[in-house]
Amino acid sequence: MPLVRYRKVVILGYRSVGKTSLAHQFVEGEFLEAYDPTVDNTYSKIVTLGKDEFHLHLVDTAGQDEYSILPYSFIIGVHGYVLVYSVTSLHSFHVIENLYQKLHEGHGKTRLPVVLVGNKADLSPDREVQAIEGKKLAESWGATFMESSARENQLTQGIFTKVIQEIARVENSYGQE
Ligand code: GDP
Repeated sequence: MPLVRYRKVVILGYRSVGKTSLAHQFVEGEFLEAYDPTVDNTYSKIVTLGKDEFHLHLVDTAGQDEYSILPYSFIIGVHGYVLVYSVTSLHSFHVIENLYQKLHEGHGKTRLPVVLVGNKADLSPDREVQAIEGKKLAESWGATFMESSARENQLTQGIFTKVIQEIARVENSYGQE
């Protein structure tokens, strides 16, 4: 019988960037035009990657800004992060840079399994952040970067399989030290 590994992943980012829409699209396979998430919400899904099965526990947070203090529950026992900004909001991009620094310090400056997501890529005419900027930021962290649209199921699936792969990649890199 395959071993089912537990993975806790927290989704962080400024409000209204699409965190809930991404989680909802991944778990339920649909896009919600209007949803009002004012509290943290959790989702569970079994994800199969090759021969391995993962019990992915997603924590969708209510949203942070540059002044937010991250609670311990976002640090302790968390395996990986999906950090989301909207390509239509430069402010949300700055908030993500700031959140990453807080996470990095919270984890004792170790390498973190992170997928940086530039969401709302379908709204290109309103774009304020170019893909190259997201890519550079993720590279500076040693993380993975993706642009996405919560309207598109396939792109959304890729984010969450990627974060599971990132967790394995970071774990293996420690094993080799
Ligand atoms: P959250 O506060 O970060 O969880 O953001 P929500 O998931 O509640 O999304 C905020 C608003 O943006 C909602 O009206 C969503 O329908 C919309 N939205 C989220 N993701 C996308 C996307 O990829 N493309 C477009 N066009 N709208 C999106």
